[in-house]
Amino acid sequence: MEKIEHIGIAVKDLEKSNALFASLFGTPHYKTEEIAAEGVKASFFKAGPNKIELLEATNPESPIAKFIAKKGEGIHHIAFAVSDIVAEIERLQKEGFVVLNPTPKKGADNKLVTFLHPKATNGILIELCQEIATLKHDQS
Ligand code: ZN
Repeated sequence: MEKIEHIGIAVKDLEKSNALFASLFGTPHYKTEEIAAEGVKASFFKAGPNKIELLEATNPESPIAKFIAKKGEGIHHIAFAVSDIVAEIERLQKEGFVVLNPTPKKGADNKLVTFLHPKATNGILIELCQEIATLKHDQS
């Protein structure tokens, strides 16, 4: 695993929280994205080199709605960047971790993602994400 890619925070009201975190970080969110399949609307902040993702449920069946109902607002997951998500899933399964999406799916911010079940990680939902390669002609 490489660095922490971002921290995901579950919020009830994205608009209110966008204003709150903008004053906390001294800079507004730079992007909003809806992940319809997950029932989630996300906004993204940069705090120095770090990325924070705010997550609001868009329907009552959303994992974010369920999380907030159970635990209230707060840190929802920690995401780690990996360079080869398929190899990492295989490695972690061998180590006995429960991978929620053995086939990585497309997540927010142009990433392939999967999650590890918090039951096997001391209660912390861990996301793995790999940047989806984009064609760049300006790099050698
Ligand atoms: Zn995330």
